[in-house]
Amino acid sequence: MFNLILFGPPGSGKGTQSDLLIKRFGFLHLSTGDLLRDEISRQTSLGIEAKKFMNNGQLVPDEVVIGMIDSKLNDNQEAKGIIFDGFPRTVAQAEALDKLLDLRKSKINILLSLEVPEEELKKRLIQRGEQSGRSDDNEEIIVKRIAEYKNKTEAVAKYYDQQDKLVRIKGIGSIESIFESLTNAITALV
Ligand code: AMP
Repeated sequence: MFNLILFGPPGSGKGTQSDLLIKRFGFLHLSTGDLLRDEISRQTSLGIEAKKFMNNGQLVPDEVVIGMIDSKLNDNQEAKGIIFDGFPRTVAQAEALDKLLDLRKSKINILLSLEVPEEELKKRLIQRGEQSGRSDDNEEIIVKRIAEYKNKTEAVAKYYDQQDKLVRIKGIGSIESIFESLTNAITALV
């Protein structure tokens, strides 16, 4: 099984590129943001609890997202590969993910980090908020989400860098050219 983490701040293009990558490689897409939004739309107790954090630009507690990923791994043991999108977002989540994969005799193969300047991120997120109506894509919350990224998430790249798994990808330019850079990094390993 080939496991990759598509990493980057909010607005760096993880969702867009994941969609293209799953079509190209046939991997399973696991996005904790999508899973949480699904829980919210079904008004589950997990969703109701998570919504409070999400609408405030804060990360949902580690144990909630780790539990969701654990159950998805159980449900998809035959997947030929997985793209983790928006997870792990803290070092505790990264450690938990490594353990969950280890238990299944698997591991993270690569972390692809989409690098995008902060001003560009804000512009993209505001635009996305206008188009998609995502409740956490407004200016006040965007600033908080980027701060959460810097305070808690950036360290995840370092964690995987220490395992020699970090590959930095320029996340500006056309969608196609970014996709090509990602694809090249993956095919070098698959
Ligand atoms: P995303 O769609 O990945 O931008 O995630 C939207 C929001 O869901 C984030 O701002 C967090 O509040 C929450 N979320 C998504 N993934 C995680 C995660 N791995 N850990 C904690 N919170 C998360």
